This record gives sequence, C-alpha cells and structure tokens, in this order.
Amino acid sequence: MKPTATALQTAEDPADTGTQKIRDAIRDAIVERRLSPGTKLSESDVGNLFNVSRTLARAALQALSYEGLVSVEKNRGAFVAYPSPDEARQIFAARRLVEPGILREAAARVTPSQIQHLKQLLLEEGRLMGERGQTARRAEIKASGDFHLTLAAISGNAIMQRFMDELVARSSLVIALYGQSTISSCGHSEHGDILVAIERSDLDEACRLMLHHIAHIEADLDLRERKSVGLKEAFEP
Ligand SMILES: [Zn+2]
Repeated sequence: MKPTATALQTAEDPADTGTQKIRDAIRDAIVERRLSPGTKLSESDVGNLFNVSRTLARAALQALSYEGLVSVEKNRGAFVAYPSPDEARQIFAARRLVEPGILREAAARVTPSQIQHLKQLLLEEGRLMGERGQTARRAEIKASGDFHLTLAAISGNAIMQRFMDELVARSSLVIALYGQSTISSCGHSEHGDILVAIERSDLDEACRLMLHHIAHIEADLDLRERKSVGLKEAFEP
C-alpha cells in the first residue's frame, strides 16, 4: 500500500535511517581510528555487517564519500579515504576558519548545565589519558573530538554541526597518517583553558586559545608525502 501524504510527513523513511546508522557507525570507527586510511569497504561486507541490502550499503558509502571520508573508485569499490598532505592542510585551514565562529556562537548560548557537561567531558578525557591500553586510547580520542563537536552542538547551527562531524573525522584520518606522537587527536590540556575563557565570557581569549590549539595539533603532523606507503599500496585490498 502506498503511504499517504500524512504518513510520509510523520514517519521516517526506514531506508534513510538505515543509511544514517551505517554512516554514523563508520564515521565513529574512523574517528576512533578503528578503521585506517585506505581500508577496503566492500558493499557486501558492509551490508552483512549491518544486516542491510547492498543497495543500502552502497548509498551509505556514497554519502560518506560526499563527506570526504570514503573514496569510491570506479571498478575498484570503496575505501576509507587516504588524505594527501594538501588535503590535510586544507582540513586544518578550514578548522581555523570555522571553529572560532562556532565558539563565539556557542559561548553566546551556553547554559550552566552545558558548561557542566563540557567539564564532565574534560574530566573523562583526563581520566582516560592516565589509563593504558588501546580501548582507553580510543575512548580518549573520541572524548577529545567530542569537545569540539559539543561546542558545535551548543552553537545551535545544524549545518555547522554536520560540517564539524566531517572535519573532526577527516582530522582523525590525517592524524592517523601524519601524526608523529601517539597522543590523542588533541592530546593537550588546552580544552580546559578554552572552557575557562568561555566561563569568564572572554571570547577573544577563547578564540585565541582555540586557534593556538588547532595550530598545536597541526604542528604535530609530518606532512611529507608518504613515499614508502604509496597511494597504490594503501588501496591494495
Ligand atoms: Zn581539541
């Protein structure tokens, strides 16, 4: 039976929710570096893993390719993206442009309970930093990205929020490829300083600290072309 106009307006399309779920799960795996740059993502494997049809899996991979997280190669299939040094520089340049703006919007709207939530995130990040093991490392990487994503959520701009989802995930790929230290994507105590400036309503200082923080993450990258792990080898199934 064809759904009525009302049904269409109220019910979510199960295919859309299905692709969204796969997109979010793969994006999370990329952020937490469970999936490395260049990993093959076959439609049938993705379909089996999430218990969906190949068509739905293909739609999810296609959508992730629009976010720059997956590269779809003709006749070869889909792979986790393998950002070049140039793309890496552009990703961080984009962060330097958008994050101070997000920070200003967020600081203007932030409520005391949201400040508490941010503090909780920082505590969690600090606790994980002191722990050993891969699970703690992944959780710490996730928590450090969440600080930036939570600010975007507080800003109340859904478009900026989606943009930050993409930028944080793409940063994770860049750090996995070019990062020199083993610390998390942020890895410093700078989130705390940013939060203190927000609490004091010192927005100029908060923005200055954010730019410094992004520069600090970027300074840890060695953006030389990886000759030894060439693009071709990295895309080998
Ligand atoms: Zn950070």
